[in-house]
Amino acid sequence: MIRFEHVSKRYADGTTAVDDLSFEVREGELVTLVGPSGCGKTTTMKMVNRLIEPTEGRILLDGDDISGIDPVRLRRRIGYVIQQVGLFPHKTVLDNTATVPHLLGVRRAEARARAAELLDLVGLDPATYGDRYPEQLSGGQRQRVGVARALAADPPVLLMDEPFGAVDPVVREHLQTEFLRLQQTLNKTVLFVTHDIEEAVRLGDRIAVYGQGRVEQFDTPPAVLGAP
Ligand code: ADP
Ligand code: ADP
Repeated sequence: MIRFEHVSKRYADGTTAVDDLSFEVREGELVTLVGPSGCGKTTTMKMVNRLIEPTEGRILLDGDDISGIDPVRLRRRIGYVIQQVGLFPHKTVLDNTATVPHLLGVRRAEARARAAELLDLVGLDPATYGDRYPEQLSGGQRQRVGVARALAADPPVLLMDEPFGAVDPVVREHLQTEFLRLQQTLNKTVLFVTHDIEEAVRLGDRIAVYGQGRVEQFDTPPAVLGAP
């Protein structure tokens, strides 16, 4: 589904952020990328949706080299959720969720109906929260809207970069549990970045353990935990 072939990224200032990365994520699989700050996790994610380009190597999505896919088309196949979800401040929760599909050509009423379903799915009652503005939500609730919005275009792939990193531990655990349940229903192919090994183990079907710019281990949670 997503295949990295000898992917490297060197930034303009000479920093090698990712060095000869090769691994494959299967369809419907949730792979967590774990490792210390600065080891190249976010760089990896940004290359998958072409926010930045690899210096070497290539990334395949369903067998297609992504460098040949127009970035706008790519966004329909890939949803992205980051730590500080940038919701539109002047749009309601419902409109935040409905905007992208509407821009992609779904009729407004249909986009809003689907947005309400998605809000429900991520645990936000649309009748209660649909008309609120982002600043009227807690951090945990904003992240839920971010997940709903990423799902709105129904992409087969989700990229999640520390999506629960900015909320307190109790809320975080709650969001993890709900996300796992959601994933069982949706069966998306997910790349999930975290610096928290417990989160990586809890959520991942497999874990990519990053060292400096490299994947040092790529295996199931028991295998990673059992390693010396
Ligand atoms: P992580 O997500 O694991 O914290 P990043 O992928 O953000 O790591 O960063 C990997 C390395 O690349 C770090 O050394 C970081 O400082 C560097 N880096 C990230 N973005 C840039 C950039 N735009 N220009 C130069 N160096 C960068
Ligand atoms: P969470 O545990 O999800 O982070 P909080 O403890 O931050 O939630 O918030 C608890 C409740 O207070 C939520 O129902 C939320 O909607 C409400 N709330 C939080 N901030 C605001 C705000 N600025 N305006 C209105 N309601 C708020």
